[in-house]
Parts: sequence; structure tokens; C-alpha cells
Amino acid sequence: MTVDRTEELDLYRDSVRKFLDRECPLEKIAVWEREDRVPRELLKGMAELGILGLTTPEEYGGSGTDVTVMTVVMEELAARWSGIASLYNMSVGYGSLNLVYKASEAQKHRFLPGLLAGDTLVAYGLSEPEVGGDLASVRTRMERKGDKVVVSGAKRWISGANVADYMLTLVRSGDPADRHRNLSFVMIPMDAEGVSFERTRCMGTHGIPTNDVHLDGVTLDADLVIGEEEGWNKGWGMLAGGSLEVEKLAPTFIALGIAAAAVQEAWQYSQDRSQFGKRICGHQAVRHVLSDVQTKLKACRLMAYDAAGRVHHNQPSAVDTCMAKLFVAETAKEIVLSCQQYVMGAYGYAEGFQMERYVRDILAVPIYGGSSAIQKNNIATLMKLPRE
Ligand SMILES: Cc1cc2nc3c(=O)[nH]c(=O)nc-3n(C[C@H](O)[C@H](O)[C@H](O)COP(=O)(O)OP(=O)(O)OC[C@H]3O[C@@H](n4cnc5c(N)ncnc54)[C@H](O)[C@@H]3O)c2cc1C
Repeated sequence: MTVDRTEELDLYRDSVRKFLDRECPLEKIAVWEREDRVPRELLKGMAELGILGLTTPEEYGGSGTDVTVMTVVMEELAARWSGIASLYNMSVGYGSLNLVYKASEAQKHRFLPGLLAGDTLVAYGLSEPEVGGDLASVRTRMERKGDKVVVSGAKRWISGANVADYMLTLVRSGDPADRHRNLSFVMIPMDAEGVSFERTRCMGTHGIPTNDVHLDGVTLDADLVIGEEEGWNKGWGMLAGGSLEVEKLAPTFIALGIAAAAVQEAWQYSQDRSQFGKRICGHQAVRHVLSDVQTKLKACRLMAYDAAGRVHHNQPSAVDTCMAKLFVAETAKEIVLSCQQYVMGAYGYAEGFQMERYVRDILAVPIYGGSSAIQKNNIATLMKLPRE
């Protein structure tokens, strides 16, 4: 299977790498990591490169949804820095892709041009202090008041809320007893009165930090409710709808990119470091670790590209994307930890090399975008395994 190597994909890889070498060299990443920020200007560069339109149909100004190319771009960005991959995901995933699938025509025409130009950034507000995997329990409330809506509640772990222009927010818009039926999405401007946020300090994913977002009686025009009148109380269907398949692919390819970068660094390090009179790549234990991680990386690549190919070609893919997210996130974690612990030793634990950053970043991927346990639940359910 050579789905990951076509002339078109290699051209995209090449142009993304050139962009990263120019705009995102390792010396700058070290500074941005410490400052926990990603410059917004990088989005403009991505717009010029033509990669922001990869989840938007041509009729709205995009380049037509191309899942394979989008995931290749995600992998390349993550191999350089998870911060820039997350920035990209806020635009093409949380923003454009969600709006293409969920929004009214008027809302698509209102928000997509800014996203495509790199002027607008969207955070995704699902989780809450008391709500993790169980999203049907969302407590943040939205009430209708004439032609306005009022939103009150709190969101937690919201990636990039501190740099976003809007938070696409899952809210309870009716009786909580109905769990799945009374949920809606609303686009909340981050500068609206009553919105405040504070960063959460995490060990990794620096650049696009997570945030607690407080919503205190935020009053908005009702046309910010996603899908407008027809979108009321349709939030659960929107959450589980077509965009979900691609949403699972984004963290899958971020994990793949980080794992590939870790293997590359360890592979090279093993040839540069000598102990006991020879390069450590000559010691059998190190050779075996490196053979194992290369093999696991190949398996991750096959899983990821197979799932992306199925989504791209509109084939049934719900189980495949769950399996890819589960397998690649967990295996990439093993790969990175093996490279750090058994090849690079102390140098993988300290700043200077990139490995300590890969470790910090990879540990988040099995948690977000649907945790590994939730993917396992979904695989068993989708494959109709009886519960009793
Ligand atoms: C770096 C990072 C970025 C994030 N970005 C965002 C974001 O932008 N927007 C957003 O909305 N959220 C975001 N999140 C939150 C993320 O989606 C949640 O952490 C995730 O949904 C899991 O929720 P939880 O951590 O509260 O775990 P919980 O749901 O409390 O679960 C705790 C543990 O129990 C397991 N578990 C829970 N229920 C079950 C079950 N039924 N069966 C088996 N096991 C179960 C879970 O897998 C987990 O291991 C982010 C999180 C991180 C770490």
C-alpha cells in the first residue's frame, strides 16, 4: 500500500517543509515554547500557501475538501511543532470544517472567508469542569430572549481560546433530562461582554494552550446559533455528523507527525553518540529499539492513511477512524517514550534536543479528540458487540 506517496502529496510535503524552514525554525520554536504562544502571522503564511482551503468546498472559496492532502499537511506541521499543527487545526478543523457541515448558508458566507484568509480563528468549546467524555451532560445553558440568546456557564480545556476570535460552543438549549435532544451550537465572539478566560498550565501542547472560559450572561444575536432556527436543539446530530470522521483524523496525524520526528531524532542521535568504544547504533539493544519504533511507525502510517483514504473517498469509515485514533495515539506514545528512554537517555530528558518536547506533546494526544477509552467504547458499539 503506497497511498502516502504520490507526486501530489510529495509536492505538498515539500512546500510545507520549505514554509516551516523559513517561518518556523527550531530556534524560534524554542522561544515560542517558553512564551507559550504561536504568532498569528503564521496563519497568513498558511493562507498564502493555499492550505487553509483544504476543508472548504470551492463554492465557498476553498480548494475543495481534500482529506488526504489536509492530513498530510497536518502530519508535516506536527513533525515540526505541535503548536503550529494545533493552530492549523483551529482554522481548518474547529473552524471551516465544522461550519461547512453544521452552519446555515448565511453563516458559511459570513465566517468562511475570514477563516480562508487567515484572519479568523475558532476554538472548540465542548468540555466543561464537570463534563469530559460524556458530552450529552453539558451544563452551559442558552436561553432565547426575543431575537437574542443569553449564554451562561463555563468551558474547560479549550485549546487556543486565548487567541481565538470565536468559540464554537456546545450548549444546553432545553430541558437537561432530554440529554441528547436539547443541545445546540452557538458561535460566541471571544470579545463579547461576559466572556472571560484564563490559561491552564499544561506540561505540553505549548503555543496553543488550554483555557478555562467563563460565560456570564453573554447576550448574542440569535443568528449566531449554528444552523439558525433549524439548528436549535440539533447539536447532538451536528456533533456526531460528517465532520466527526475528519475530527478524529486530525489528532491521529498530529500523533503520527510527532512520532515520525521522534524516530528521526533518535535514529540520528544513535549515530552521533559513542559509548563503550563505538557508536550506540552498533549496540544490539539500541538497534532493536530503533527497529521496533520504525516498525511501529510503519504500522501507524498504514492505519492513519487507510482511515484518511476511506474518509476521502466517502467510504464507510466510522470504525476505521476510531481504530486509527486509538492505535496511532497509543502507539505513537510508546514510540516516543522508547526513543527518549532507550536511545537518547539524559539527552532526551533535557532541553536542547527536541525529544523532551515530543514526550510532553504526545502524552496529550490519547486524551483529547475522544480519549482512547471512548474510542474503544465506540468501536465495540459500532461493531454491534452485545452489551449483555
Ligand atoms: C491538551 C488538551 C487539549 C484539549 N483541547 C480541548 C478543546 O479544544 N476543546 C474541548 O472541548 N476540550 C478539549 N480538551 C478536553 C478533552 O477533550 C477531554 O480531556 C476529554 O474529552 C476527556 O475528558 P476528561 O479529561 O474530563 O476525562 P473524563 O471524561 O473525566 O474521563 C477520565 C478517564 O476515564 C475514562 N472514561 C470516562 N468515561 C469512560 C467510559 N464511559 N468508559 C471507559 N472509560 C471512560 C476516560 O477515557 C479518561 O481516561 C483538551 C484536553 C487536553 C488535555
